[in-house]
Amino acid sequence: MEEFSVLTKSKWDLVNITQQVRNIVKKAKAKNGICNVFVRHTTCAILINENDDPKIMEDIQDLLKKLVPEKVWKHNCIDENGAAHIKTALLGVSHSIPVKDKKLMLGRWQGIMLADFDGPRQRKIIVTVAGE
Ligand code: ZN
Repeated sequence: MEEFSVLTKSKWDLVNITQQVRNIVKKAKAKNGICNVFVRHTTCAILINENDDPKIMEDIQDLLKKLVPEKVWKHNCIDENGAAHIKTALLGVSHSIPVKDKKLMLGRWQGIMLADFDGPRQRKIIVTVAGE
């Protein structure tokens, strides 16, 4: 298991973390198995999607903004980030990717991304590689 940090730059930020995860998988003891990527926060999500055309992520952001508008949530009286918590609940905080010969078996266009809905902040990600 390894942990690394990412510094997000704005309220909504998307950071491609595929290379960091690949480096951890390369150093792991297990050669074949499964790699879990988990973000340790309540207002972030892990996405696996196309990382070539940034417009896809803009489309996802546009949809999330429509689905989860700001400023109408009960939690907002505590820290004003109710919408961010709900987006995280919808998208999830972890994904698992198969590993073969110390390589992530991602498809050609797939990348692993950290989505921050309540940045800018330092965000911690745990990568666990299990297998043999
Ligand atoms: Zn909150």
